[in-house]
Amino acid sequence: MIIETENPEETFALGQKIGRAATPGQVYTLTGDLGVGKTVFTQGVASGLGITEPVNSPTFTIVQVYEEGRLPFYHFDVYRIGDIEEMEEIGYDDYFFGEGICLIEWAELIEEILPENRISITIEKDLSRGFDYRRITIEGLEL
Ligand code: ADP
Ligand code: MG
Repeated sequence: MIIETENPEETFALGQKIGRAATPGQVYTLTGDLGVGKTVFTQGVASGLGITEPVNSPTFTIVQVYEEGRLPFYHFDVYRIGDIEEMEEIGYDDYFFGEGICLIEWAELIEEILPENRISITIEKDLSRGFDYRRITIEGLEL
């Protein structure tokens, strides 16, 4: 499924729709260059889950946990990860195979440990369509 957005609000709204529809144990992976809108999308998902506290990229930790919404929300940003051992140290499988919702920014950096059963989201720019245009490809989910 491909969805095109023309501004951050539309990307947020798409995330929100996905957050509202999320079911326990789902894992979402987010791929795309720096500044493409992964965090904007994530903020939408959090809002769709009923989380009202601000969601930003976890800079000093690999995972940020939000318990306030309809389901626990585990927001990973693995951009700065050195090796997979760091994921093992935080006990990633409790998150990946638990009942909450996992969303992983820069998931391609930990490809080897990603669960097979996941929803993959790729966000791309196309400057020929304007600065704020984004093409969002979602695999593994029916909306
Ligand atoms: P990432 O997490 O991928 O590094 P961010 O979500 O932090 O990126 O930042 C995306 C930036 O792009 C924000 O400043 C946002 O306002 C801007 N932007 C412009 N158009 C869009 C769009 N269509 N969707 C998402 N973000 C957009
Ligand atoms: Mg980000």
